[in-house]
Amino acid sequence: MNKIALAIHGGAGTILKSEMTVELEREYRAGLENSLKTGWEILQKNGSALDAVEAATVALENFPLFNAGRGAVFTHEGKHELDAAIMDGASGKAGAVAFVKNVVNPIKLARLVMERTEHILLGGDGANEFAREMKVEFAPDDYFFTEHRYQQLLQARETGKVQLDHSVEAASGEWRVAGEIQNPKSKIQNPIGTVGAAACDVFGNLAAATSTGGMTNKRFGRVGDTPIIGAGTYADNRTCAVSCTGHGEFFMKTLAAYDVAARMKYKNSSLIEAAQEVIENLRNIGGEGGLVAVDALGNVALPFNSDGMYRGSMTADGEMRIEIYR
Ligand code: ASP
Repeated sequence: MNKIALAIHGGAGTILKSEMTVELEREYRAGLENSLKTGWEILQKNGSALDAVEAATVALENFPLFNAGRGAVFTHEGKHELDAAIMDGASGKAGAVAFVKNVVNPIKLARLVMERTEHILLGGDGANEFAREMKVEFAPDDYFFTEHRYQQLLQARETGKVQLDHSVEAASGEWRVAGEIQNPKSKIQNPIGTVGAAACDVFGNLAAATSTGGMTNKRFGRVGDTPIIGAGTYADNRTCAVSCTGHGEFFMKTLAAYDVAARMKYKNSSLIEAAQEVIENLRNIGGEGGLVAVDALGNVALPFNSDGMYRGSMTADGEMRIEIYR
Protein backbone atom coordinates (compact mmCIF):
# COMPACT_ATOMS: atom_id res chain seq x y z
CA MET A 1 0.00 0.00 0.00
CA ASN A 2 1.28 3.39 -1.01
CA LYS A 3 1.26 6.49 1.19
CA ILE A 4 -1.68 8.68 0.19
CA ALA A 5 -1.30 12.44 -0.22
CA LEU A 6 -3.42 15.38 -1.33
CA ALA A 7 -2.52 19.02 -2.01
CA ILE A 8 -4.97 21.72 -3.07
CA HIS A 9 -4.94 25.43 -3.89
CA GLY A 10 -7.40 28.29 -4.27
CA GLY A 11 -5.10 30.64 -6.17
CA ALA A 12 -1.90 32.59 -5.53
CA GLY A 13 -1.28 36.33 -5.61
CA THR A 14 -1.34 39.52 -3.62
CA ILE A 15 -2.99 38.10 -0.54
CA LEU A 16 -2.00 40.24 2.43
CA LYS A 17 -2.91 39.58 6.03
CA SER A 18 -3.23 43.33 6.53
CA GLU A 19 -6.09 43.37 4.00
CA MET A 20 -7.93 40.32 5.34
CA THR A 21 -10.68 40.36 7.96
CA VAL A 22 -10.93 37.60 10.54
CA GLU A 23 -14.34 36.55 9.17
CA LEU A 24 -13.15 36.38 5.57
CA GLU A 25 -10.07 34.40 6.51
CA ARG A 26 -12.28 31.96 8.40
CA GLU A 27 -14.43 31.54 5.30
CA TYR A 28 -11.47 30.91 3.03
CA ARG A 29 -10.08 28.36 5.47
CA ALA A 30 -13.46 26.61 5.68
CA GLY A 31 -13.58 26.38 1.87
CA LEU A 32 -10.11 24.84 1.73
CA GLU A 33 -10.86 22.47 4.61
CA ASN A 34 -14.04 21.23 2.97
CA SER A 35 -12.15 20.48 -0.25
CA LEU A 36 -9.34 18.67 1.56
CA LYS A 37 -11.77 16.56 3.58
CA THR A 38 -13.74 15.65 0.47
CA GLY A 39 -10.67 14.47 -1.43
CA TRP A 40 -9.06 12.81 1.58
CA GLU A 41 -12.13 10.72 2.36
CA ILE A 42 -11.94 9.22 -1.13
CA LEU A 43 -8.21 8.45 -0.82
CA GLN A 44 -8.70 6.93 2.63
CA LYS A 45 -11.31 4.54 1.30
CA ASN A 46 -8.80 3.33 -1.29
CA GLY A 47 -10.46 5.47 -3.95
CA SER A 48 -8.51 6.71 -6.96
CA ALA A 49 -6.36 9.83 -7.13
CA LEU A 50 -8.45 10.82 -10.16
CA ASP A 51 -11.71 10.72 -8.18
CA ALA A 52 -10.04 12.56 -5.28
CA VAL A 53 -8.74 15.48 -7.36
CA GLU A 54 -12.04 15.78 -9.20
CA ALA A 55 -14.07 15.85 -5.97
CA ALA A 56 -11.67 18.24 -4.22
CA THR A 57 -11.85 20.58 -7.24
CA VAL A 58 -15.65 20.38 -7.45
CA ALA A 59 -15.81 21.48 -3.79
CA LEU A 60 -13.63 24.49 -4.64
CA GLU A 61 -15.63 25.29 -7.79
CA ASN A 62 -18.82 25.36 -5.72
CA PHE A 63 -17.28 27.69 -3.15
CA PRO A 64 -18.05 31.27 -4.27
CA LEU A 65 -14.88 32.96 -2.97
CA PHE A 66 -12.60 31.19 -5.42
CA ASN A 67 -12.21 32.06 -9.11
CA ALA A 68 -13.68 28.88 -10.62
CA GLY A 69 -17.21 27.66 -11.26
CA ARG A 70 -19.44 29.72 -8.97
CA GLY A 71 -17.48 32.87 -8.10
CA ALA A 72 -15.52 32.95 -11.37
CA VAL A 73 -14.34 36.36 -12.55
CA PHE A 74 -16.22 38.33 -15.21
CA THR A 75 -15.14 38.73 -18.83
CA HIS A 76 -15.20 42.17 -20.46
CA GLU A 77 -18.76 41.48 -21.64
CA GLY A 78 -19.88 40.64 -18.10
CA LYS A 79 -20.00 36.89 -18.68
CA HIS A 80 -18.08 33.95 -17.27
CA GLU A 81 -15.82 31.83 -19.46
CA LEU A 82 -14.48 28.81 -17.66
CA ASP A 83 -11.37 26.68 -18.28
CA ALA A 84 -10.50 23.34 -16.65
CA ALA A 85 -8.24 20.31 -17.08
CA ILE A 86 -7.69 16.94 -15.48
CA MET A 87 -4.92 14.38 -16.02
CA ASP A 88 -4.54 10.76 -14.97
CA GLY A 89 -0.91 9.93 -14.21
CA ALA A 90 -1.52 6.18 -14.49
CA SER A 91 -2.76 6.12 -18.09
CA GLY A 92 -1.34 9.44 -19.28
CA LYS A 93 -4.86 10.38 -20.41
CA ALA A 94 -6.05 13.95 -20.08
CA GLY A 95 -9.16 16.04 -20.73
CA ALA A 96 -9.72 19.79 -20.81
CA VAL A 97 -12.24 22.49 -21.69
CA ALA A 98 -11.70 26.15 -22.54
CA PHE A 99 -14.08 29.12 -22.32
CA VAL A 100 -17.20 27.08 -21.60
CA LYS A 101 -20.24 28.96 -20.36
CA ASN A 102 -22.85 28.24 -17.68
CA VAL A 103 -21.36 24.86 -16.78
CA VAL A 104 -21.60 24.41 -13.00
CA ASN A 105 -18.56 22.14 -12.71
CA PRO A 106 -16.13 22.51 -15.63
CA ILE A 107 -13.80 19.94 -14.07
CA LYS A 108 -16.47 17.24 -14.49
CA LEU A 109 -16.76 18.22 -18.13
CA ALA A 110 -12.97 18.00 -18.54
CA ARG A 111 -13.10 14.46 -17.17
CA LEU A 112 -15.83 13.57 -19.64
CA VAL A 113 -13.63 14.87 -22.47
CA MET A 114 -10.92 12.53 -21.20
CA GLU A 115 -13.18 9.51 -20.83
CA ARG A 116 -15.74 9.89 -23.61
CA THR A 117 -13.83 11.41 -26.52
CA GLU A 118 -10.63 10.75 -28.39
CA HIS A 119 -9.61 14.38 -27.85
CA ILE A 120 -7.90 16.29 -25.07
CA LEU A 121 -9.11 19.88 -25.32
CA LEU A 122 -12.53 21.14 -26.41
CA GLY A 123 -13.22 24.88 -26.59
CA GLY A 124 -16.08 27.39 -26.78
CA ASP A 125 -19.40 26.56 -28.42
CA GLY A 126 -18.28 23.05 -29.30
CA ALA A 127 -17.37 22.31 -25.70
CA ASN A 128 -20.77 23.65 -24.62
CA GLU A 129 -22.50 21.45 -27.17
CA PHE A 130 -20.56 18.46 -25.84
CA ALA A 131 -21.62 19.46 -22.31
CA ARG A 132 -25.28 19.43 -23.38
CA GLU A 133 -24.85 16.00 -24.97
CA MET A 134 -23.25 14.72 -21.80
CA LYS A 135 -26.15 16.22 -19.82
CA VAL A 136 -23.87 17.95 -17.31
CA GLU A 137 -25.40 20.47 -14.95
CA PHE A 138 -25.93 23.99 -16.30
CA ALA A 139 -26.90 27.11 -14.37
CA PRO A 140 -28.10 30.56 -15.45
CA ASP A 141 -25.75 33.58 -15.34
CA ASP A 142 -27.17 34.55 -11.91
CA TYR A 143 -25.65 31.45 -10.32
CA PHE A 144 -22.15 32.62 -11.25
CA PHE A 145 -22.71 36.22 -10.16
CA THR A 146 -20.84 37.38 -7.08
CA GLU A 147 -20.78 41.00 -6.00
CA HIS A 148 -17.02 41.14 -5.31
CA ARG A 149 -16.22 39.84 -8.82
CA TYR A 150 -18.62 42.36 -10.36
CA GLN A 151 -16.90 45.19 -8.53
CA GLN A 152 -13.57 43.88 -9.83
CA LEU A 153 -14.94 44.03 -13.38
CA LEU A 154 -16.22 47.59 -12.98
CA GLN A 155 -12.83 48.64 -11.67
CA ALA A 156 -10.97 46.83 -14.45
CA ARG A 157 -13.25 48.27 -17.14
CA GLU A 158 -12.64 51.75 -15.79
CA THR A 159 -8.90 51.33 -16.11
CA GLY A 160 -9.21 49.36 -19.36
CA LYS A 161 -7.10 46.58 -17.87
CA VAL A 162 -7.22 42.83 -18.15
CA GLN A 163 -6.80 41.77 -14.60
CA LEU A 164 -6.04 38.52 -12.91
CA ASP A 165 -7.78 37.67 -9.67
CA HIS A 166 -6.59 38.73 -6.18
CA SER A 167 -5.04 41.87 -7.70
CA VAL A 168 -4.41 45.00 -5.72
CA GLU A 169 -4.17 48.47 -7.08
CA ALA A 170 -0.99 50.22 -6.03
CA ALA A 171 -1.30 53.62 -4.42
CA SER A 172 -0.19 55.37 -7.61
CA GLY A 173 -3.08 53.90 -9.55
CA GLU A 174 -0.69 51.61 -11.36
CA TRP A 175 -0.87 47.86 -10.94
CA ARG A 176 1.62 45.67 -9.25
CA VAL A 177 3.00 42.69 -11.14
CA ALA A 178 5.41 40.25 -9.54
CA GLY A 179 6.22 42.74 -6.84
CA GLU A 180 7.05 45.61 -9.21
CA ILE A 181 5.03 48.55 -10.38
CA GLN A 182 3.97 47.86 -13.93
CA ASN A 183 3.41 50.47 -16.58
CA PRO A 184 -0.34 51.23 -16.42
CA LYS A 185 -0.55 50.86 -20.20
CA SER A 186 0.45 47.23 -19.92
CA LYS A 187 -2.37 44.87 -20.83
CA ILE A 188 -1.81 41.95 -18.48
CA GLN A 189 -2.16 42.58 -14.79
CA ASN A 190 -1.31 40.87 -11.56
CA PRO A 191 -2.42 37.22 -11.39
CA ILE A 192 -4.53 34.90 -9.52
CA GLY A 193 -7.62 32.96 -8.52
CA THR A 194 -8.06 29.46 -9.80
CA VAL A 195 -8.42 26.21 -7.91
CA GLY A 196 -6.75 22.85 -8.23
CA ALA A 197 -5.61 19.61 -6.66
CA ALA A 198 -2.91 16.96 -6.96
CA ALA A 199 -3.13 13.53 -5.33
CA CYS A 200 -1.46 10.17 -4.82
CA ASP A 201 -3.67 7.15 -3.99
CA VAL A 202 -2.92 3.86 -2.19
CA PHE A 203 -1.98 2.26 -5.49
CA GLY A 204 0.68 4.91 -6.15
CA ASN A 205 -1.40 6.44 -8.94
CA LEU A 206 -1.18 10.20 -9.40
CA ALA A 207 -3.68 12.72 -10.78
CA ALA A 208 -4.02 16.49 -11.13
CA ALA A 209 -6.95 18.85 -11.76
CA THR A 210 -7.22 22.63 -12.26
CA SER A 211 -10.21 24.93 -12.85
CA THR A 212 -10.47 28.69 -13.38
CA GLY A 213 -12.49 31.67 -14.57
CA GLY A 214 -9.24 33.15 -15.91
CA MET A 215 -8.77 36.91 -15.75
CA THR A 216 -11.19 39.73 -14.98
CA ASN A 217 -12.11 41.79 -18.04
CA LYS A 218 -10.54 39.24 -20.42
CA ARG A 219 -11.59 39.44 -24.08
CA PHE A 220 -11.22 37.77 -27.43
CA GLY A 221 -11.48 34.23 -26.06
CA ARG A 222 -8.29 34.55 -24.01
CA VAL A 223 -7.29 31.19 -22.56
CA GLY A 224 -4.57 30.79 -19.93
CA ASP A 225 -2.43 27.90 -18.75
CA THR A 226 -5.09 26.02 -16.78
CA PRO A 227 -6.52 23.83 -19.60
CA ILE A 228 -3.17 23.44 -21.36
CA ILE A 229 -1.71 20.07 -20.45
CA GLY A 230 1.89 20.54 -19.34
CA ALA A 231 1.44 24.26 -18.64
CA GLY A 232 -1.11 24.49 -15.80
CA THR A 233 -1.89 20.83 -15.22
CA TYR A 234 0.17 17.64 -15.51
CA ALA A 235 0.40 14.12 -14.01
CA ASP A 236 2.66 11.15 -14.64
CA ASN A 237 2.96 8.23 -12.21
CA ARG A 238 6.73 8.10 -12.84
CA THR A 239 7.29 11.58 -11.47
CA CYS A 240 4.52 13.78 -10.06
CA ALA A 241 1.11 15.42 -10.34
CA VAL A 242 1.00 19.23 -10.58
CA SER A 243 -1.68 21.95 -10.57
CA CYS A 244 -0.61 25.57 -11.14
CA THR A 245 -2.01 29.01 -10.41
CA GLY A 246 -0.79 32.44 -11.36
CA HIS A 247 -0.06 34.56 -14.38
CA GLY A 248 -1.01 32.01 -17.03
CA GLU A 249 1.06 33.35 -19.90
CA PHE A 250 4.28 32.70 -17.96
CA PHE A 251 3.21 29.16 -17.05
CA MET A 252 2.50 28.55 -20.74
CA LYS A 253 5.87 29.89 -21.86
CA THR A 254 7.74 27.68 -19.41
CA LEU A 255 5.43 24.64 -19.50
CA ALA A 256 5.66 24.93 -15.74
CA ALA A 257 3.66 21.84 -14.70
CA TYR A 258 5.57 19.56 -17.06
CA ASP A 259 8.83 21.25 -16.12
CA VAL A 260 8.47 19.95 -12.54
CA ALA A 261 8.11 16.40 -13.89
CA ALA A 262 10.96 16.87 -16.41
CA ARG A 263 13.37 18.05 -13.71
CA MET A 264 12.56 14.96 -11.64
CA LYS A 265 12.90 12.68 -14.65
CA TYR A 266 16.02 14.07 -16.30
CA LYS A 267 17.86 15.71 -13.42
CA ASN A 268 16.82 13.29 -10.75
CA SER A 269 15.63 16.21 -8.64
CA SER A 270 13.37 15.53 -5.68
CA LEU A 271 9.77 16.77 -5.90
CA ILE A 272 10.51 19.67 -3.60
CA GLU A 273 13.67 20.73 -5.43
CA ALA A 274 12.00 20.49 -8.84
CA ALA A 275 8.90 22.42 -7.77
CA GLN A 276 10.96 25.17 -6.15
CA GLU A 277 13.24 25.50 -9.18
CA VAL A 278 10.25 25.92 -11.48
CA ILE A 279 8.78 28.70 -9.34
CA GLU A 280 12.20 30.36 -9.06
CA ASN A 281 12.57 30.17 -12.83
CA LEU A 282 9.15 31.83 -13.21
CA ARG A 283 10.20 34.65 -10.92
CA ASN A 284 13.33 35.19 -13.01
CA ILE A 285 11.23 35.88 -16.09
CA GLY A 286 8.73 38.07 -14.21
CA GLY A 287 6.00 35.47 -13.69
CA GLU A 288 4.00 35.39 -10.50
CA GLY A 289 2.21 32.41 -9.00
CA GLY A 290 2.60 29.00 -7.44
CA LEU A 291 1.75 25.35 -7.72
CA VAL A 292 0.83 22.30 -5.71
CA ALA A 293 2.51 18.97 -6.48
CA VAL A 294 2.52 15.42 -5.17
CA ASP A 295 4.83 12.49 -5.98
CA ALA A 296 4.29 8.73 -5.89
CA LEU A 297 5.99 8.45 -2.49
CA GLY A 298 3.31 10.65 -0.97
CA ASN A 299 5.46 13.80 -0.70
CA VAL A 300 3.89 17.20 -1.30
CA ALA A 301 5.31 20.56 -2.42
CA LEU A 302 3.44 23.88 -2.41
CA PRO A 303 5.89 26.59 -3.56
CA PHE A 304 4.86 30.08 -4.70
CA ASN A 305 6.59 33.40 -5.35
CA SER A 306 3.64 35.73 -4.65
CA ASP A 307 2.59 37.32 -1.36
CA GLY A 308 0.29 34.44 -0.65
CA MET A 309 -1.43 31.32 -1.94
CA TYR A 310 -4.60 29.73 -0.61
CA ARG A 311 -3.34 26.21 -0.05
CA GLY A 312 -3.73 23.02 1.93
CA SER A 313 -2.35 19.52 2.12
CA MET A 314 -2.76 16.21 3.89
CA THR A 315 -0.17 13.47 3.96
CA ALA A 316 0.04 10.00 5.50
CA ASP A 317 0.47 11.43 9.03
CA GLY A 318 -3.16 12.55 8.69
CA GLU A 319 -2.43 16.12 9.70
CA MET A 320 -4.33 18.78 7.78
CA ARG A 321 -2.28 21.86 6.86
CA ILE A 322 -4.02 24.98 5.61
CA GLU A 323 -2.14 28.19 4.91
CA ILE A 324 -2.72 31.48 3.12
CA TYR A 325 0.21 33.85 3.57
CA ARG A 326 3.90 33.62 2.91
N1 ASP B 1 -3.59 30.74 -14.27
C1 ASP B 1 -4.88 31.33 -14.48
C2 ASP B 1 -4.94 31.96 -15.85
O1 ASP B 1 -3.97 32.58 -16.26
C3 ASP B 1 -5.23 32.38 -13.49
C4 ASP B 1 -4.97 32.06 -12.06
O2 ASP B 1 -4.32 31.09 -11.69
O3 ASP B 1 -5.46 32.83 -11.26
O4 ASP B 1 -5.98 31.88 -16.47
